[in-house]
Amino acid sequence: MEITEIFKTMEYSPAPESPDLALEWLKEHKSKFGLFINGKWCKAKSGKVFSTDNPANGKKLASISEAGKSDVDAAVRAAKLAFPKWKSLSGHERARYLYALARQLQKHSRLFAVLETMDNGKTIRETRDIDIPLVIRHFYHHSGWAQLLESEFPEHIAIGPVGQIIPWNFPLLMLSWKVAPALAAGNTVVLKPAEYTPLTALLFAEICSQVGLPPGVFNLVTGPGQTGSLMVNHPDLKKIAFTGSTDVGRLIREATADTDKKLTLELGGKSPFIIFEDADLDSAIEGLVDAIWFNQGQVCCAGSRLLVQESVAEKVIDRLKKRMAKLRVGDPLDKSMDMGAIIAPIQKERIQNLVDQGKKEGAAIWQWEGKLPQNAEKKGDGCYFPPTLFTNVSPASIIAQTEIFGPVLVSMTFRTTDEAVMLANNSAYGLAASVWSENINQALHVAPKLKSGVVWINCTNQFDASVGFGGYRESGYGREGGREGMFEYLKPKESGISKNQIRKSVAKVKASATTALSLDRTAKLYIGGKQARPDSGYSLNVVNADGSLAGEIGDGNRKDIRNAVEAAHKSSGWQSSTPHLRAQILYFLAENLETRAVEFKKRITQLTGVTEKQAALEVKTSVSRIFTYAALADKHEGMIHQPPMRGLALALNEPIGVLGLVCPDEAPLLSMLSMLLPAIAMGNSVVLVPSRPFALVVTDFYQVLETSDVPSGVVNIVTGDSAKLGTVLAKHDDVAGLWVAGTKTECTEACKLSTGNMKIIWTNNGAQLDWFDNQQSEGREWMRRASQVKNVWIPYGE
Ligand code: NDP
Repeated sequence: MEITEIFKTMEYSPAPESPDLALEWLKEHKSKFGLFINGKWCKAKSGKVFSTDNPANGKKLASISEAGKSDVDAAVRAAKLAFPKWKSLSGHERARYLYALARQLQKHSRLFAVLETMDNGKTIRETRDIDIPLVIRHFYHHSGWAQLLESEFPEHIAIGPVGQIIPWNFPLLMLSWKVAPALAAGNTVVLKPAEYTPLTALLFAEICSQVGLPPGVFNLVTGPGQTGSLMVNHPDLKKIAFTGSTDVGRLIREATADTDKKLTLELGGKSPFIIFEDADLDSAIEGLVDAIWFNQGQVCCAGSRLLVQESVAEKVIDRLKKRMAKLRVGDPLDKSMDMGAIIAPIQKERIQNLVDQGKKEGAAIWQWEGKLPQNAEKKGDGCYFPPTLFTNVSPASIIAQTEIFGPVLVSMTFRTTDEAVMLANNSAYGLAASVWSENINQALHVAPKLKSGVVWINCTNQFDASVGFGGYRESGYGREGGREGMFEYLKPKESGISKNQIRKSVAKVKASATTALSLDRTAKLYIGGKQARPDSGYSLNVVNADGSLAGEIGDGNRKDIRNAVEAAHKSSGWQSSTPHLRAQILYFLAENLETRAVEFKKRITQLTGVTEKQAALEVKTSVSRIFTYAALADKHEGMIHQPPMRGLALALNEPIGVLGLVCPDEAPLLSMLSMLLPAIAMGNSVVLVPSRPFALVVTDFYQVLETSDVPSGVVNIVTGDSAKLGTVLAKHDDVAGLWVAGTKTECTEACKLSTGNMKIIWTNNGAQLDWFDNQQSEGREWMRRASQVKNVWIPYGE
């Protein structure tokens, strides 16, 4: 075409990236790959292979080994053997390895980019300019964390060999998000890439050999979901880090419930993209293109739900259609394409089914009308899907609620800010949100109200190694990136058992203890700031250590828990109260407990049978613990990150919401406070189930709460059979987090039963804590457990 013609038509010419280097690399390997275990390449014992294809043309790229049980065992063994030495290297030595990996990735960045595009179908523009630079940045950044590990995390150590399972949408990027922090922290790794996209992970393993990474530190097993499942169930892996669908995340949570494996889950999303009437609409539309058509919409945090203010909705939809018409869909190796191929025919079919569903539901559809490439091999349709827009979508419809994981945008309108927030939060997910407004006050007013781990203001799909990424609700828990991401690969140093420890085994309620009480000492439940009779109308005896009847407690049930959860939700003002106010109230609580120290000492002595001296120590330590959390309430602050952009990311520590707390029997006042205080200091509201035999210590505490200005509904207490009540809390979908200090069986049950809404869970896994030991039982680790990080990205400049 002549230049003058180009000027006339403004048509794009093809701008292909050469696949030659990548094809040569495949040829060098005869297009066959083994597993990378203990620094060596080996065949899978099963002898089974599967193929990986190029989604853009359906051509087979290579044969890949399928790891079975003995292969996974061998990889875990290698990681376990390598762990002690790798962990005990100095931070500097590990930093050098990570630095070498970053350098090597940088030197071969184009090969990685081309290979990723061929294996995944995403455009070279994205792999070259986004995925691979971010991968490199991750290794540099985490080389830094390795160097600083001892000084920055003095109270923490590596966990052990970890299993990492990643999806196909960002193959090498997800590898880097997992491998870099794991190695920096001193863990060794067994990684399974997705079946569709193993190639860049295989090339990465080669790079590990090139930089001389010690054998066994990084092991790669390729295979289907079954291989992942073998890893999940392997007893020697001490942590599972998973990115993928919420359904598989749920299975993994259930499978690991009775183990002490640490777990992070980065799951799906249905993220809102909110355009206010005062937004720069042209920028917002460009943002939308990046939000939903980046990587063909196969992005966990894709802005797939457009919420636009009614006054500008027509204008936005009109301009959006015009912009969509200009999108270029085709060969992913062509540098001028906006969208490439969908990962596999089955995924395309899934997208099509959901689009058909949308039509059936009555939504209006508008699709890009260009010509999609054909499948060169099979001569049929290629694996491409047109950019698609749905308007007139009802918020409850399937397409508004289900993650489509394709280039499909659904749009809805709102009138007021409150309505925008309500619609945005009307999702089981909570991964990311994008807010567009030229009024920064408005944007910063909305950001904290959104239930999501990331909020982008006037931008979208921003990622950086220094800024944690991860979800709320059914989008999972745990963060990747930044300081918070490092904590996910560390555990607190084991501390010794304190000499002052007091533990009292549980007194059994004796049937013979029927002495009539002179006064009615039946302690009620405490719900919404009021004492309430249990729904069941039953009471349970509480017996003193000497066998005499101490009193009675209400036998709470499912309905009482439901009422308590409702009351806790009504106290949401506590979340937005100032940390200073929460600190003041906690100090007041300490004052009022101390005033009644003699009474509590007596109660603890009588109920648990410890000496007066021991009981006095429990009360004294309780007062000190309240002081700790009053102090921390306004000091567990967030951070400001400065990612490589003109802007900031504010890492805000936010409360989780309504937390269920199931307390243990030992040191009943102190253990209860150790769980309650970090929760409320962070702004959570709680439903607390006290120890069954010593519940009267906790019911005595109502009066302390009442006299300390703790707003009603912030602390709700339901007494009764704690195992049973714990089960109800675990199943309750309006409880966002659950802490259980109970027997091993109770902890396992709680983990299994709480997958419905993917509660953030902490349990003691049946092990007793020393509640008197400040290192184990108070401090920032607990504040971290009681909070989740939201990163708010704010670009600046004109
Ligand atoms: P899947 O959950 O199907 O797979 C993810 C990984 O888990 C793959 O490696 C898969 O293997 C493996 N796997 C499958 N079944 C099991 C099992 N029973 N036990 C252990 N491992 C298993 O998700 P997709 O690959 O389909 O990825 C898309 C999903 O991932 C979307 O929901 C998306 O939102 C989410 N995602 C989340 C991100 C986040 O950061 N929050 C980022 C990227 C994606 P195989 O591929 O061989 O089947």
